[in-house]
Amino acid sequence: MTKDTILCSIPEDFSDRLTEKYEFALKNDFLIFNGTGAYEEIVHQKIDGSNNPLDIEYTVYTAKEVARPANGTKENNPFANPEPELTIVDRFGLDNEFKIVFNKFPLVPRHFMMVTHEFKPQQTPLANNELIGIYTILSKLKSTESEAKHDWFAFYNCGPQSGASQPHKHAQFMTLPPRDKYTPFASYIAEHGEAFIPDDKREPLQNAALPFAHFVAKLPKSLDSMDSDDLSMYFGSLLTRGLTVLKQYDADHVSYNVLMTTDYMMLVPRSHSKYNGTGFGVNSCGYAGLILCREKEYLDLCKNVGPDSILKELGFPNEVHEQSEEFKY
Ligand code: AMP
Repeated sequence: MTKDTILCSIPEDFSDRLTEKYEFALKNDFLIFNGTGAYEEIVHQKIDGSNNPLDIEYTVYTAKEVARPANGTKENNPFANPEPELTIVDRFGLDNEFKIVFNKFPLVPRHFMMVTHEFKPQQTPLANNELIGIYTILSKLKSTESEAKHDWFAFYNCGPQSGASQPHKHAQFMTLPPRDKYTPFASYIAEHGEAFIPDDKREPLQNAALPFAHFVAKLPKSLDSMDSDDLSMYFGSLLTRGLTVLKQYDADHVSYNVLMTTDYMMLVPRSHSKYNGTGFGVNSCGYAGLILCREKEYLDLCKNVGPDSILKELGFPNEVHEQSEEFKY
């Protein structure tokens, strides 16, 4: 493939469809908005003992919890036949292998997903066509004038401890809190680093202030400097580091979170999906600093223990001082 095929085609009016279909689905009860209190409180936390200028911001948000979706199985799979009223684009991708559908239980308005038509397990790494699909959607939203005030990000919860609840492969898309109030960690890290595909000589970007292992790749500003398989190279380099951490701690599962915008990709290896045997679960959004507290007791827990300790406990210790070797995994 050549540079000019890095994106796949997406309807010109994608953003309008998102807005119009979302409003229709909401008004007619095809989806259940779960996020009344979304992004209600932004907590700034300085990490003790660090000279790092990173003032970590967390958004602790509570959901109205109108409905909680059941965990799916391959047999009982809500993505096998998504409701037409939730479908935004029926055929999308380099080989039309995806559909774009609304999350039936959105946490923020227009929360949607890219889902494979055929069943593919959620435990599989993101393939090149999936990365291109995700990147195409993010690029389209970024270049749409009416979306200028929104910062979209994509996330992928992979594996049994990642916080995923559905086994059918899907990546999700949400908007971040207002940018004048909030900067997610990865965006700060990418802003202060340079774009390169990490290899055996150059480590992915990491920040010593963050308590959990994380690997960030800053993506080039211009598509002209990317080939269609570059996204896979970035992703593969982060995954290799993540798998190395899982192996180092003898994890008996492969679980990680992926966050992506047109500016960066971040991968966080996960040890547990829920905090200390409680029902308090965190998925990729937590590692964008968006911590959903569905119950008042989880909000109290989060404030008492500190979001940083929770994210560390659910991940692995920061690897910033570890030197990786080529093909260590
Ligand atoms: P995850 O929990 O990361 O596996 O993401 C799966 C998402 O699918 C959850 O956020 C659910 O809200 C959403 N979901 C569950 N059932 C349905 C459904 N019938 N249609 C659309 N989205 C759903």
